[in-house]
Amino acid sequence: MKTVLITGGSRGIGRAAAMLFAKEGYKVIINYNQNRQAADEVADLTGGDVIQADVGDSKSVEKMFELIKDRYGKLDVVINNAGIAQQKLFTDITEAEWDRMFDVNVKGMFNICKQAVPMMVHEKQGKIINVSSIWGTVGASCEVHYSASKSAVEGFTKALAKELGPSGITVNCIAPGVIGTEMNIALTKEALDELKEETPLCRIGTPDDIAQVMLFLASTGSDFITGQIISPNGGIVIN
Ligand code: NAP
Repeated sequence: MKTVLITGGSRGIGRAAAMLFAKEGYKVIINYNQNRQAADEVADLTGGDVIQADVGDSKSVEKMFELIKDRYGKLDVVINNAGIAQQKLFTDITEAEWDRMFDVNVKGMFNICKQAVPMMVHEKQGKIINVSSIWGTVGASCEVHYSASKSAVEGFTKALAKELGPSGITVNCIAPGVIGTEMNIALTKEALDELKEETPLCRIGTPDDIAQVMLFLASTGSDFITGQIISPNGGIVIN
């Protein structure tokens, strides 16, 4: 049975991924940071294993990997999905908010890969899937720190893909458009309607739209794809 670690697997896109991967026969490790109840619900639905860790904290990630190594020995797929967002004028963003954004969205991915990559190199195989955002590609007003952190996810993906290709490991990135999760709870109905109007496919995305792309990037069907940024976004951004 293949094993997948999904950071932020308790809610939103990560939850949809946990459900889909479990349905496809994967053993799912559901990481979360704060909301144990949400993570337990996903575990009940998927038969998955819940492990708490703040991805931005290297010690916390090390402890999670001690458990993973003890219980599973190897990881076939890692999905760096955990992330935070914040809407604020640039001039109001504090240093602490900037640091927290980068700790979770960028250093989180670094901390996870530092632990996962040696395991995958040992197996000479593995699939790493990072999650950025269309705002990392085109930039979002009032989300400078979020947009910058997601651009960093894309640069990290491209560089690590070059380094790990000879070891049989692929590294790809998904840059979702606007998806209906709690991350967008602050958007008004008017704002959502405007986004739908601007989107050629005339809707916002569902968590499952993204989970399906994750499943593809984890499958053998994607074996010749690495270092790529794939953007399921309904056409709102076409490069
Ligand atoms: P969400 O509904 O807010 O869920 C976020 C998940 O990440 C939760 O499971 C949360 O767990 C976890 N998490 C947050 N901080 C964490 C930390 N420090 N350590 C471990 N887990 C942490 O978000 P989402 O919309 O599903 O977003 C998932 C990813 O897609 C993010 O990287 C986001 O930036 C990206 N994305 C989302 C959209 C969108 O429109 N929704 C668009 C583009 C990209 P707890 O509740 O336990 O903290």
